Amino acid sequence: MSPEDRRVLIAGGGPVGLLCAWLLARRGVPVRLFEENDGPQADPRAATTHPATLELLNEDGLAEDMARVGLVAPIFQFWDRPSDTLIAQFDHGVLENDTAYPYVVQCEQFKTAGLLLERLRGFPHAEIMFGHAAVDLRQTETGVQLDVRGPAGITTHAGAYLIGADGGRSTVRKQCGIAFEGFTWPERFVVLTTPYDFEAGRGYCYRSYFADPGAWCNCFKVSADGPPGLWRTVFPTDPAETDEEILGDAGVQARLNAFFPSSHPYPIVHRNLYVTHQRVAARFRLGRVLLAGDAAHVNNPIGGMGLNGGIQDAVNLSGKLARILLGAESERLLDLYDRQRRTVAVEFVQEQSIANKKRLEAADPQQRRRNLDELKAIAADPARARQFLLRSSMIESQRRAERIALEDA
Ligand SMILES: Cc1cc2nc3c(=O)[nH]c(=O)nc-3n(C[C@H](O)[C@H](O)[C@H](O)COP(=O)(O)OP(=O)(O)OC[C@H]3O[C@@H](n4cnc5c(N)ncnc54)[C@H](O)[C@@H]3O)c2cc1C
Repeated sequence: MSPEDRRVLIAGGGPVGLLCAWLLARRGVPVRLFEENDGPQADPRAATTHPATLELLNEDGLAEDMARVGLVAPIFQFWDRPSDTLIAQFDHGVLENDTAYPYVVQCEQFKTAGLLLERLRGFPHAEIMFGHAAVDLRQTETGVQLDVRGPAGITTHAGAYLIGADGGRSTVRKQCGIAFEGFTWPERFVVLTTPYDFEAGRGYCYRSYFADPGAWCNCFKVSADGPPGLWRTVFPTDPAETDEEILGDAGVQARLNAFFPSSHPYPIVHRNLYVTHQRVAARFRLGRVLLAGDAAHVNNPIGGMGLNGGIQDAVNLSGKLARILLGAESERLLDLYDRQRRTVAVEFVQEQSIANKKRLEAADPQQRRRNLDELKAIAADPARARQFLLRSSMIESQRRAERIALEDA
């Protein structure tokens, strides 16, 4: 095959698309990536990167670079909001025999994208085309053609395969007619970012979850532009509230004060509102088109699993595509990608992220008590704490994916 015949096209230059591009380029596969924006977007979405994901990012010191530009967080906590009491604390240290990374790294996703872009510059066979949006595609038995809208109008690009890493509203998924099965939460989630130091002021660690009847908050620290860093708080909103009510100063201060009473207004540096879904694509492969990241699955951010799942897709898929394109494996391997990653998305990430939300927002007093007592009991028992952390840190789901590969062999 000529290099052109082996080229992989990628729609979407978020962290998942860029990671696919880098991993393929490192293995000698030519790639051409199209991103509709003019550069990486600095919106406050993913930061938490779990141990199972860090293990997969160990090539060329990427995980270590993420820790250098982010924050290392070995522990996380659950708090009862009404009584402001610490219910349970989990230390990833109990996973020291399970992983080389017994901690999470809080690295904002645009920083991960930046680290990947720096690395991609070293590969002349990796073309990154910002300001280009994928609009349509056609495929045959031997290749894919992608129509792209850029500054020069519509151009058509040919490749052996196409990866749709173009986010939750994926054009690639829609053009393939693949259903995005699941539901949308009625409440939107608001992210309020402040330099207020929740550790010094209120004793919270870098990842703290708050349970409240009918509500919840995730409060976590990111390094931002360097010390002292910023704190992001994520809350549900009432579906009846307008954008103005949610994002205006009065609403923002009232929301923060209801959880974290203060005699001084909180300084706010960002306020962002997100519609949140629980959806998984009906298939991750259609012929020569593969879906990865949010294009394939979306979930609520409690527990920080969306991008982690996307990175795990990218590593799995890029490895398989490289082996196929370099002649070591048959295309059948791509069905295994679908089976491994779709199973994990449905059985693990969807289930876990929904359970995380329900646990925090439970309103029935007896159910709340049971939930909080259960967390306390798990944290107090090292064997149960390890099991809990194996699941929350996504090691268990990676092991599940590996078992599917063994069953397939
Ligand atoms: C508030 C919040 C907090 C979160 N926190 C976490 C967390 O801590 N940990 C975690 O794992 N996950 C978290 N997530 C989820 C995480 O942000 C997503 O899973 C992640 O962004 C998915 O990466 P991606 O590359 O698949 O998609 P995206 O980041 O959405 O990137 C897709 C890219 O494709 C581009 N694009 C779209 N259409 C086209 C087109 N037609 N042609 C070309 N380009 C196109 C877009 O411009 C974008 O750059 C959070 C989400 C939210 C909302």
